Formats: sequence, C-alpha cells, structure tokens
Amino acid sequence: MKHVAVVGAGIVGLLTAYELRRRGHRVSLHSSGIAEGATHAAAGMLAPAAEIQYGQSALWPLMREAAELHDDLAADLAARTELPTGYRDHSTVVIGRDSADLATLQDLARIQRSTGATVQDLLSAQARRQEPALARALAGGILIESDRQVDPRLLSAAVVDLLGRPDSQQGPPVSIEHETITSTEQLEADHIVLAAGLGVPTIDGPHRRLDLALRPVRGDILRVRAPRSLLAPGEEGLLSRTVRAIVRGRSLYLVPRAGGQLVIGATSREDDLPGPSTAGVLQLLQDAAEILPSVRETELLEVVARDRPGTPDDLPLLGPAPDDERVIVSTGYHRHGILLSTWAARRTAELIDDPAVAAQPDLAPVRPDRFTPDLSTPAFAHRRTAGGSPARTSATRQGEAARQGDAARVADPARQGEGGGARR
Ligand SMILES: Cc1cc2nc3c(=O)[nH]c(=O)nc-3n(C[C@H](O)[C@H](O)[C@H](O)COP(=O)(O)OP(=O)(O)OC[C@H]3O[C@@H](n4cnc5c(N)ncnc54)[C@H](O)[C@@H]3O)c2cc1C
Repeated sequence: MKHVAVVGAGIVGLLTAYELRRRGHRVSLHSSGIAEGATHAAAGMLAPAAEIQYGQSALWPLMREAAELHDDLAADLAARTELPTGYRDHSTVVIGRDSADLATLQDLARIQRSTGATVQDLLSAQARRQEPALARALAGGILIESDRQVDPRLLSAAVVDLLGRPDSQQGPPVSIEHETITSTEQLEADHIVLAAGLGVPTIDGPHRRLDLALRPVRGDILRVRAPRSLLAPGEEGLLSRTVRAIVRGRSLYLVPRAGGQLVIGATSREDDLPGPSTAGVLQLLQDAAEILPSVRETELLEVVARDRPGTPDDLPLLGPAPDDERVIVSTGYHRHGILLSTWAARRTAELIDDPAVAAQPDLAPVRPDRFTPDLSTPAFAHRRTAGGSPARTSATRQGEAARQGDAARVADPARQGEGGGARR
C-alpha cells in the first residue's frame, strides 16, 4: 500500500482518488474546492462518437476506452450507493438545422462509423418521432446508439460520499482537506497526483520545468426547467435523450436532466469577461429555440461560466514530472474531462502501481513534456517521429480542418459543443 496525495477534487481528482483507494492505497485529497471548477459546469455528455472531430484522431481511442470504463463505473457505483449519478445509457440524436449543417453531420458520421460506432441517418420526421418536441423545419439528423451521459454534480457528490465511507475491500477512507496547495513540498506522500485542472501550473514542484501550455477556454452553459403544463402525461421533460445540433455552423447541445431540467450548452471563448457572456447566452437560447421551440416557455434556472483546461493539441497531459516519478501530472482534459476522467483515473493508478507504464506507446501522445522542446527527452523525440512534425498549434489544426473542407461549416469561433462542430 502506498500513500498517494491527490491535489484537486474536480471529477479527475475524485475518480483518481476512488480508483487508487479501490486498489488498496492510502489516499489523501487536497483541494481548494470540491467539484466547483469546470466539473460544476459540465453537461456530462459521455460521447466518444458525437465528439469526434477532424484532426483529433489521437483522442478517439482514449474517448472510447473512457466510455467503456464509465459503463463499469456506473455498475460499480450502483452496487455501492443509492445516491444517483444521473447515468443514462440512451442514444443521442444529432440534428442538422439546414442542408449544409446536415452535410457536415453526414461527413462526421462517416468517420464515426469508421471507428465502429452505430450511426443511423434520420429524416426530419424520424427525428421528431424519436423526440416529438423538436421543431418541424429541420434538415435531418443522425442517431448515435453508443453515447451516454452522467450528471457531473451528482456523480461527484456520490464519489465524495463513498470516499469517506469505510470499506473492508478497499484502502482506508480518503481524507479530504480543503486547502490550496502552493508547492508539492507541502505534501508528504509516496506519490503526488496533480489533478488540479488549470491550477496545476500555479503549484511549485518538479513539473514546473515543463511548459504545460495550459490555457483557460471559457464555456457558458444554461439550465432551464419545463413547467408541468408543457409536458404530456408521463413525460419527465421536453426531451428523453441528449439532442445535439449544428445550427448554421454553430454547435449546440440539449441534455435532459431529472426533474424536467434541460442543460443547454455551450460557448467556447477566450476573451476577458470574468462572468457569463451576454452575447453567448443570447445565441445559445436563439439556437436552442430553433431546434426545440418550447424552450421559450421554460423557466431559466441557471447561467454558469467556467474555464476548461485547454491544451494546444486538445489532448490531455498525463505522466510523471521530469526526473521525479513521484509527482504525476494529470490535467488538460479540456472539453472531454467528464468522459476522460475514468481513463485518467485508471492510467494514473497504473503509473503509480508500475512507473514503467509511462513508457507505453498509448501514453506517448499525452506526455506532459510534449510542449517543452528544450527538455531533451525521449518523449519529445517520440512525438516528432510519430507525428512527423512538432506538436500542432491551434492555427495549424484550423488549417488542417480547412483542407478537409469543414472550416466553412465551423466558422463561428465563439461556440463549440463539447465537440461536434465549431471550434477554434
Ligand atoms: C460549459 C462546459 C461544459 C462541459 N461539458 C462537458 C461534457 O459534456 N462532457 C465532458 O466530458 N466534459 C465536459 N466539459 C469539460 C470538463 O468539465 C472538464 O474537462 C473537467 O471538468 C476537468 O476536470 P478537472 O478535475 O481536471 O478540473 P476541475 O473540475 O476544474 O477541478 C480542478 C479542481 O482543482 C482544485 N484546485 C485548483 N487549484 C488548486 C490548488 N492549487 N490547490 C488545491 N486545489 C486546487 C479546484 O478547486 C477544483 O476543484 C465541459 C466544460 C465546460 C466548462
């Protein structure tokens, strides 16, 4: 049994603590807040197929593995706690608002099918048969069988509860310290996992030799609730499954939650507004009303903005600090952190159980030293060899997208779904 200190109690730190304890380790969790960062805002889509984007093929296997691990986690949690997690394994409908949006969707569907996803074309009327509240004048869509969702706030609360309970088959209960960590030297442990999202570069330690290239990518997201009068008898909400859409190149998602609630998201912006963006919220609501007209009659419950921990290549940062296997960096989960949290937890625990895991080829694309060219490590050499060029910047990715013909359809830099269309 090792003592592992995990810094950060967002979804990544929480599930990492959970996995480490499951493997018998003694874990302490140190965090300035509990699931109050990006995790608090997230829609919770677990969407390895719908999230597929051009130029991100290195991410796809991670997303698929993570989704399978979520199925296992849901079964494990259901056996251990009666607390809800909002896990739903229903399909996802993706709508194209006009014919050009539909063409974009169908291009993406070809890639989704090539990765093994079951994707069915839907005429507009068929989409409405799946979800009767959808608007009439829609070009069409697709149905993705595999994608799932969870409620990140409920999942976090359930995991926090379990971490504190004795369990004879696991390591000791996890102590949770509400504190801001400024240096790894504050923590005495066999291993320290830095899972503090955007807070990781602010902590002193051996990882500070790395340029993590993390940047905040802010997302605005809304929660609304349908009044009972809007629902048919027996209906819990306006939608029974996640509906995503491309609305004139802007992507949108509508995620149903318990109690008739609906999550509407999300913007993606890198401006200096500290709170939610009025323009972003307005556009989200206008687009939502085009796809689901009765949104206009709902009660607006909440508008939230949080920063996603973004990286230049949209891949996470997971691996040991240079010359110090004791400290493990686990951040940069950007738009997919709820989905990837199970993968992050599993891989981090494997690194702690066997540091040689760091050399495994599947971890090469996510090595935390890949943006530190002056750090002459085999990891950097590997990246050049494997990719044929240094890490791509956002600008080069946009060029790549343009060459593949999707740039015209993703022209609005202010919005992206958690995947599924526009991006910057
Ligand atoms: C609007 C929006 C919608 C999203 N929707 C989805 C989605 O549908 N599906 C999906 O997969 N992903 C989604 N994401 C992305 C996802 O939310 C993030 O990738 C994920 O939450 C990152 O988790 P984390 O634990 O790394 O970081 P966070 O959730 O930000 O947690 C970091 C934690 O570290 C703590 N911390 C920070 N600094 C310190 C310090 N120095 N000392 C101690 N503690 C510290 C903070 O208090 C915080 O609790 C969405 C994000 C946004 C903003």
